Amino acid sequence: MPPTYLSGACLCKNITYRVVLHTPESYPDLIICHCTNCKRYTGAGFSTNIIVPSSDFQYTKGLPKLYLDIGNKEGQVLREFCPDCGTPFTSQSKSDMQMVAVKSGTLDDEHRIKCTKLAAEIYHHRKDGWVTSIGTEDVQKINGSMG
Ligand SMILES: [Zn+2]
Ligand SMILES: [Zn+2]
Repeated sequence: MPPTYLSGACLCKNITYRVVLHTPESYPDLIICHCTNCKRYTGAGFSTNIIVPSSDFQYTKGLPKLYLDIGNKEGQVLREFCPDCGTPFTSQSKSDMQMVAVKSGTLDDEHRIKCTKLAAEIYHHRKDGWVTSIGTEDVQKINGSMG
């Protein structure tokens, strides 16, 4: 049987969560955000998210810390992260609390690899120049051994 939910955790695994899948195998699309605040929040060139109904998202162990990000021109954003290891879990616009953006890198491996469709890049005008060279021939491909 395929899972009826997606599960995820932070790096230290003190906090875990799950996302209900109403239809088995209906894995959510990915949305990349290139905004300046997502770069800082994730420490990366962009954030990768699945957007799901807030009512389908729940923490199953531990509770994250909430940071109210007021530095957005388009309104305040709630950002949840693990206070112990710093992993970012979610961002949520205060003007649309019906939906939550879950950072897809926190999904457990077996669920993350099922989310394969990139549907949109938002804040595209903030995209860093190097991003388009991902996967191109001139970039060295080196396999790691950490996980
Ligand atoms: Zn943690
Ligand atoms: Zn963003």
